[in-house]
Amino acid sequence: MNLYDIRQNQRISKAQAENKRTARNVQESQESIEELRQSVQKLSLVCQAMWQLLQTTSGLSDQDLLETLQSIEQKNAAQNCSKCGRVQQSKKPHCLYCGTAFPEEASTMSCFKV
Ligand SMILES: [Zn+2]
Repeated sequence: MNLYDIRQNQRISKAQAENKRTARNVQESQESIEELRQSVQKLSLVCQAMWQLLQTTSGLSDQDLLETLQSIEQKNAAQNCSKCGRVQQSKKPHCLYCGTAFPEEASTMSCFKV
């Protein structure tokens, strides 16, 4: 075995080790995704059960739920920072990245004004 072969074998071994680490990372990521998927499914079922209970005890309608959801979505709408351009939730009064203050009507602080 010459020097070139030895060097090539080292590269192959290194690549194989890297491949194993990558495969392990992919496996762990897939397991995490599956756990998250199951958590979302459980939360979805809990939300459905809670909504059924609430409807039967309070008389709220699906339309009430939709209007509330739309209201929350509007309050939590993402926006771009005017200075750094990064996207984030508008419920924060300042950009998390550069500190630029968001327009007051876009922050939840406006909800507390009388
Ligand atoms: Zn910013």
